[in-house]
Amino acid sequence: MNTTKCGTGAFSVLMSSYKETEAWKEASAAEDRGFRPTKGNGGRRKAPFYKVMQGMPIAVDAFRYGTIPGVTAYFLTHAHSDHYTNLSANWRSGPIYCSEGTANLIVHMLCVDRQWVCPLPMDVPTLVPDTGGVCVTLIEANHCPGSCLFLFEGPQTVHAGDSAFRSPFVGATRTFRYLHCGDFRASPQHVLHPAIRGKHIDHVYLDTTYLDPKYCFPPQPQVISACAELARRIVRGETLHDSEDIAKARQNRTMDSWLVTSGKSPEKDTKPGKILVVVGTYSIGKERIVKAIARALQTKVYCDSRKAAILRCQADPELHDLLTKDPLEGGVHLVPLGVIASDRLKDYVERFKGHYIKAVGFRPTGWTFSAPTGSDMVPSVSTIIARTQGRTFTHAHLSPMRNSTAALQVYGVPYSEHSSFFELTCFALSLDWGRMIATVNVGSEKSRNKMGTWIERWEVERKKRAKGEMVQHRAQNYW
Ligand SMILES: [Zn+2]
Repeated sequence: MNTTKCGTGAFSVLMSSYKETEAWKEASAAEDRGFRPTKGNGGRRKAPFYKVMQGMPIAVDAFRYGTIPGVTAYFLTHAHSDHYTNLSANWRSGPIYCSEGTANLIVHMLCVDRQWVCPLPMDVPTLVPDTGGVCVTLIEANHCPGSCLFLFEGPQTVHAGDSAFRSPFVGATRTFRYLHCGDFRASPQHVLHPAIRGKHIDHVYLDTTYLDPKYCFPPQPQVISACAELARRIVRGETLHDSEDIAKARQNRTMDSWLVTSGKSPEKDTKPGKILVVVGTYSIGKERIVKAIARALQTKVYCDSRKAAILRCQADPELHDLLTKDPLEGGVHLVPLGVIASDRLKDYVERFKGHYIKAVGFRPTGWTFSAPTGSDMVPSVSTIIARTQGRTFTHAHLSPMRNSTAALQVYGVPYSEHSSFFELTCFALSLDWGRMIATVNVGSEKSRNKMGTWIERWEVERKKRAKGEMVQHRAQNYW
């Protein structure tokens, strides 16, 4: 949330802070957990203001609100359940615009009738029918397969949605530009995209999942390489930096009953293919880690048929080629993230007793990340940038989790397909925007205020920079 109080910039023109506070109160009331549809409330939840693009008949990731008054175009950023809540075979409220990959997924997983699904091309502005002349450009979100950002450009023509707030610009001739980020991992490529570069964005609807300085993950491409390298070393029996942890794990041999030891220490067995790598994933997402590990081990990927069908919805020929139906051919197995985190993993690897000498699990999630001890939790923006850009991540930073044994080592991986706090900061400083609107963790006023304070800081820092000056990036795909 933007809580600017001083009436500066485009923000105060668009909406006074009082009105914004009111809009958030209204949004919180709409999100009431105890909501039950009745005749009195119209049988549906009211859509909060940030779900409907201001002055446009366009809703984004707002299926749980059913038919929203005045909305003629429903957009879906990606096929994660919290974004498509309520979308089903019964959908009749209007056309659903999304990427080709997301279109395949919702038809396959949710049985949405194809007649409502309108896949759009990536990267080219496309006129959206029945929206009074709004063009949309889909931009790769760097989140899960099929995910995209939407850049809407057009006039404000209508008071759509349930919010009591009325935009004073409806009917004005000027073009408004809104960037809806859905879920994304901000990267220099977003700011450099031809549809965005050099343009002023009136509203940014931001994925604020990790808008807190305690979430400054290491650079994710480095984390992916680290997982691949670690897996390669383990399979080849090469030295790991964490030999002490392995020694500790060796003392705890609860899993040894199924080891094919033949008198050898399991760590010294170098026969490739004898070690099973298990990666925890959601229904879609984190495929990049899986592919990198499979590539490094030159092995196939196995998962159950339900998951395989979902993976086949994605336009990813490399991934399709890696898949096998034979669990003994695939040296890398995909299991639900919940399995990796529990005793069920033991049961899972037990099934392959006698075929593998040991198993290595990877549990990639941003929530397992904890900031290095002694980190300043209220750092300045420049400290955040300098501190994070000075960091590198290799396989040596990965260590087995406490419950690991010699036969089953599980590695927590600080990996997320959402922007880290650092990436959000770089993105906000590198882009020309009028107003940032949080879309995640907005349920409590305390959380909104905390995020609003950081958004204000970004605004101050950005204004100190030359127009169009980006935060220096280490590579095209990360800052
Ligand atoms: Zn998501």
